[in-house]
Amino acid sequence: MTTPMTTPMMPSTDPAVLPETTPDYVLLTPGPLTTAPQTRAAATVDWGSWDGDFRAVTREVCDRLLAIADRGPGYACVPMQGSGTFIVEAMVGTLVPRDGKLLVLSNGAYGDRMVATARRMGRAVDVLRTDEDVPPDPQAVADRLRDDAAITHVAVVQCETTTGILNPVDAVAQVVQAAGRRLLVDAMSAFGALPLAAATRYDAIVASSNKCLEGLPGFGFAVVREDALRVCEGNAHSLSLDLYDQWLYLQRTGQWRFTPPTHVVAAFLQALRLFEAEGGRPAREARYRANCAALVDGLRRLGLQPLLAAEIQAPIIVTVHAPVGPGYDFSALYAGLKARGFVIYPGKLTRAETFRVGCIGAIGPEALERFVDALADVLQQQGLAPRHDPSAA
Ligand SMILES: *Cc1c(COP(=O)(O)O)cnc(C)c1O
Repeated sequence: MTTPMTTPMMPSTDPAVLPETTPDYVLLTPGPLTTAPQTRAAATVDWGSWDGDFRAVTREVCDRLLAIADRGPGYACVPMQGSGTFIVEAMVGTLVPRDGKLLVLSNGAYGDRMVATARRMGRAVDVLRTDEDVPPDPQAVADRLRDDAAITHVAVVQCETTTGILNPVDAVAQVVQAAGRRLLVDAMSAFGALPLAAATRYDAIVASSNKCLEGLPGFGFAVVREDALRVCEGNAHSLSLDLYDQWLYLQRTGQWRFTPPTHVVAAFLQALRLFEAEGGRPAREARYRANCAALVDGLRRLGLQPLLAAEIQAPIIVTVHAPVGPGYDFSALYAGLKARGFVIYPGKLTRAETFRVGCIGAIGPEALERFVDALADVLQQQGLAPRHDPSAA
């Protein structure tokens, strides 16, 4: 198991150019997150992006990602510069033809962002919305596909990071395939930790460097079916976010089309080697489940309630109902926790006061246990009581 790292490594250089304070806390966020010191150290080397050494790094990264996705021949891995949103935009813009129609299954902000993305690029788009704590119903997807023959593609978010809910991608994929349509998956906060069935068919799945694979932020990647991508020339509305062009160029030259984030890619390869040394996806999932269990058990001991039922809670990020008390203020809670070495995330719900705590990153359950102690301390100091829930055991 990876040891928790609480102290980001500091390069020794002229103190005059460094910020006055450097962070010293565990990131309990959905990414960027706490990374291993070896991963950060791998970012301290300068690479020539055109050089054979770096091309070998790119090739190994892509090969490892295909293996993690558990896809054999017929699938390509295409990396793309930018944050996760860039690769989502590249996937939608490249794979949905200009005269296609996208149905987005949305129960949170990232589903909604895909809708906004498709709309902005002028694609026909429809939404099948469920409440933020309700997964999409595969039967409802089947009904919508039967009723609307214009829909060519369906997009789903595997773990909707807005709440931490796990959406049933395998079941949705079956319905989409039975209806003869194509599936696009935003697996940003799940890839590398949460599995999909080997039989699950998708045209593309996307994720980024700084989530469950525990790399630094800076690029995303798509695992794409080659026969789906092959027919996508000219689809993309954007020059830089054209997955097809990036794929062709990479095949021809072994290079990224435009400047790659070289340091981040090299660090990501290190992160992937650590991933393998840990035991691959099953080990990563097991550690995140242990982290999540330590967190949820601790919250319940304090009388705090997670938003989601255990069956639909992914072990990625937990949404927690805010404590009660006239003095409750997220920024005060945040500051109190930060002073004790933990950085959390604000809630993103419209209808309930919540905060979020991530369980991913190069940390183990003991970090979450220490977090619960810190939270208990802050609640007491700020005169906050847990929200009373008579159904809590
Ligand atoms: C993090 C995330 C993204 C991408 O967000 P960026 O801020 O652009 O990196 C997209 N979808 C999901 C589900 C995510 O968790």
